Amino acid sequence: MKVLSESRTWILEHECTGYGGKGCGALLGIERSDLRYFSGGGYKDLDPAVTFRCPCCGETTDLGLNDWPRNASDLVKSTSAWKDGLDA
Ligand SMILES: [Zn+2]
Repeated sequence: MKVLSESRTWILEHECTGYGGKGCGALLGIERSDLRYFSGGGYKDLDPAVTFRCPCCGETTDLGLNDWPRNASDLVKSTSAWKDGLDA
């Protein structure tokens, strides 16, 4: 199969809701490169998550499953350093 036109610009409009509603409510245009993927597991057996960080307030927001981009597991992996804001 030949791909004749590949959609390259995936942009999601999403509010900054933060974790537990601590976000600032900014409406953001989020690109793939803004997202981090967490594969789940760990000692708390967490669910997988796709997360972005708000540039206004620094809070991280998890996307609902309906908002995940394709091939979410190919996104840059989330790290604890990134979640702590140490790794832009
Ligand atoms: Zn915010």
